[in-house]
Amino acid sequence: MKQANEIVLSPQLDAVLVQQAVEMIESAQRIALLAHEHPDGDCIGSALGLAQILRQMGKTCVPACADPVPRTLEFLPGAETLQTTLGDEQFDLVIALDAGELSRFGGLYERHREFLDQVPILNMDHHVSSAGCGRVNIIDTMSAATAELLVLFQQQAGLPLDTDAALCLLTGMITDTGSFQYTSTTPRTMQAAAILLAAGAVAETIVKPIYRTRPLAQARFQAAVIRNAQTACNGRLIWSYATDETLAESEATPEMDDNFSGMLRDIEGVQIAAFFKDYGEAGITRLSLRCAAPYNAAEICVRLGGGGHPRAAGATIHQPLQEAIPLVIAALKQEFKEE
Ligand code: 5GP
Ligand code: MN
Repeated sequence: MKQANEIVLSPQLDAVLVQQAVEMIESAQRIALLAHEHPDGDCIGSALGLAQILRQMGKTCVPACADPVPRTLEFLPGAETLQTTLGDEQFDLVIALDAGELSRFGGLYERHREFLDQVPILNMDHHVSSAGCGRVNIIDTMSAATAELLVLFQQQAGLPLDTDAALCLLTGMITDTGSFQYTSTTPRTMQAAAILLAAGAVAETIVKPIYRTRPLAQARFQAAVIRNAQTACNGRLIWSYATDETLAESEATPEMDDNFSGMLRDIEGVQIAAFFKDYGEAGITRLSLRCAAPYNAAEICVRLGGGGHPRAAGATIHQPLQEAIPLVIAALKQEFKEE
């Protein structure tokens, strides 16, 4: 049987880019690691995991995100070190993770735009729609998660990996692959995960708080979203929504809406599932979209000003819910008409 230290991940990342990234890291001392707004397990796990790797190399690391760590990810080692601002901006390197445009870092970019426009940025991401926002961009769309890309990076560059870093990276891999269920999961994904298990990460530590345990308020919130669901195109299209009122009647909080579009996608016969949310900022609706092949969520969301992956994507619509829903649903119905 192969030991984890004998596993060679293949295909590898571009060796020239890895070398350039290592040089950027080596010449920096204070490093900020950015996770995108509306954070998920991959961007938070990647920021905390890479921070832990770089700390073992003697670097001072500050993971940062416009939004606080979601409750279900608070178990992650180092979660308490995540900042929601770049403070005094005393960083000589910024590593932007799990997104390829600075605008995806939301409030962090808005508040620190001048700084971010001039500091050296290393961008590591796996989204097909990413242009790259760094001086060096490692965009690997074969990686099922940015965390998978980081395992490749850690291995190729020979960086230290401890149990805490492994747990953070495995969290990114588990959440972005739906526990290795999505077709984005390759043999390389599993081999990267094996390296993390060999480093001491325990999958149950991750899946229990994220997938199994849920507050009663969240179960009520899910029920309300299912109750609000409507279908069209013979059940091939499904959509639902949630507002401040939905939250209030369920006694739920916004962060409890995790993967609601996935919940809708799993209804029998559905090929396109859309979840709309309108809470917090008035007049702004967030769309979360899931598509079965051949429908392409990334292409649809790019047309709406967002982005993502072929099977899962999202966009921010600058319209109130009542206007955003008919607008997007008309576009989605068009997908079926074009056949
Ligand atoms: P979710 O629907 O779970 O919020 O997002 C699904 C995927 O699409 C994630 O990989 C997420 O990073 C990406 N995504 C969601 N919203 C946006 C957006 O507004 N812009 C871009 N570029 N990607 C997005
Ligand atoms: Mn990701």
